[in-house]
Amino acid sequence: MATLESLSKDSFNLHQNGQLKNDSGKENKDSHKLSTEIKMDIEKLYEAVPRLSSFFFIEDKIGEGTFSSVYLATAQLKSGKVEKFALKHLIPTSHPVRIAAELQCLTVAGGEDNVMGVKYCLRKDDHVVIVMPYLEHDSFLDLLSSMKLDDVREYMYNLLKALRRIHHFGIIHRDIKPSNFLYNGCLKKYALVDFGLAQGTPNTKIELLKVVRTEDQQKSCLKTKSATSSGIKHPPSQTTSKALVQHSAEKQPIKRPWPPTQAKPGKPARSIKTADITSRKILVAKRKAGPSKNTSSCLIRKSSVCPSNLTCDCYTTDRICSVCFSRRHQVAPRAGTPGFRAPEVLMKCPHQTSAIDMWSAGVVFLSLLSARYPFFKASDDLTALAQIMTIRGSKETVQAAKLFGKAVSCSKECPKLDLRTLCERLRGTHCFSKRKSSQKSELMDCSHISGTVPAPDAKDEGTKQTASLSSIQEVQNQARKVTQDVEWNSVKGKAKSSDVKNWCAVSDLAYDLLDKLLDLNPATRITAEMALEHPFFEGI
Ligand code: ADP
Ligand code: MG
Ligand code: ZN
Repeated sequence: MATLESLSKDSFNLHQNGQLKNDSGKENKDSHKLSTEIKMDIEKLYEAVPRLSSFFFIEDKIGEGTFSSVYLATAQLKSGKVEKFALKHLIPTSHPVRIAAELQCLTVAGGEDNVMGVKYCLRKDDHVVIVMPYLEHDSFLDLLSSMKLDDVREYMYNLLKALRRIHHFGIIHRDIKPSNFLYNGCLKKYALVDFGLAQGTPNTKIELLKVVRTEDQQKSCLKTKSATSSGIKHPPSQTTSKALVQHSAEKQPIKRPWPPTQAKPGKPARSIKTADITSRKILVAKRKAGPSKNTSSCLIRKSSVCPSNLTCDCYTTDRICSVCFSRRHQVAPRAGTPGFRAPEVLMKCPHQTSAIDMWSAGVVFLSLLSARYPFFKASDDLTALAQIMTIRGSKETVQAAKLFGKAVSCSKECPKLDLRTLCERLRGTHCFSKRKSSQKSELMDCSHISGTVPAPDAKDEGTKQTASLSSIQEVQNQARKVTQDVEWNSVKGKAKSSDVKNWCAVSDLAYDLLDKLLDLNPATRITAEMALEHPFFEGI
């Protein structure tokens, strides 16, 4: 296990307090280019953790999320060498266990196999700064337009290597996406970052993730119980009740109290409940106001307690009855970014595994092969699910959902798309493909992402999800929306004509791997270890 180096004057040349100079002793030339806002943030950080200024010269802010800000800093080592660092300042309201768990992921699993390591950690009161080696990285959008197939192969190989490592430690990252996988094309360096949403598998080697896990289990147990006791007569339950038995058999003691929010506790913005309830209120209000254009409306029961023993007859119809409206909603881990969430996450399956990271890696691969990013652009889970259905097939999605105890139905069938045809069409290399004549019929299968066939829509009732489209008008709107999502909202990498040829020769192996990553069933989805053995990577 890697240990944190001690941050001491033995390893650094100290700055004189309050005198913000860079290594050469001159005022930072670039500092005037920083916006006043960033300058103020840097000042505030120095004030919050004064010790920083003795070691580091903070040059810029390079990332800002809901729960942290990341800065580029330099420091002069005793040897005289100036080194760059990334300082991640976690927002002070972060829960201490969550912060410690993030740090522990980096210290235990980091520093090898493309997983970012950590050098130091500074704390003053509730301000925590994680100091990591800095990896300058390319923007994913730039990459999309410049990467050759071989680069994509290496990129995926290295991402999978990082995933194999963290999964070996029983870490589920939960937020795999390009901005959390840094890539420096010149140096051929890669680093998986951001364990802020990570969770542990049942036998995780990260002690603090067990604390997180125990709390999550307790919650999903409670929720599953409430769902089972509310007398739902629709399919659900084999999986859920099995999970329930498993959970109660495990009976892990709570080691430390944990606030009852999902993602990063103590912070409402990304916490599921708040976000959900707000969006639900809006959607419910919209629904009441009449048919909405946004047909991907999820319809949700009120949070009030559902009378038990009530059954209903709205299953497979396009409406939601008052019984279903009053059902308690199921809570399952859901952190991450909608467009990268696995179907079992979108459907709130309470028992989730490291397979969810593999799905997200598949979405990244899909972006790389089609040169579209973001590929799925969804502001909510049900839109994301509808988009998945348009690519992976509605029947297939419904079937997979059954396996994890969820009932999904959709008003109109979407056929499963051929991944090669899809990617080639979006990249604009389809007509160059050797297979052009033989795939003409498949080309037509893409018609529903160009807006002729309705996309599925779904409403969420905890263990029941029903797709509903109430009028032709809505069907068309929805189809248009999905077309937009896939074809227009995502930025297309501009391929040079010389690259087109390169991209015409994509082997079937690439699409075979993609298909295995985007397996709707988490139980059969390829693992990182298996994926690295896939013939697509032969020769790496
Ligand atoms: P958040 O939880 O706010 O998403 P991240 O850990 O993902 O925080 O960091 C946000 C951004 O900061 C990253 O997308 C990346 O651009 C940059 N970043 C984070 N760590 C490093 C690092 N070690 N080296 C270079 N850039 C980094
Ligand atoms: Mg991030
Ligand atoms: Zn009902």
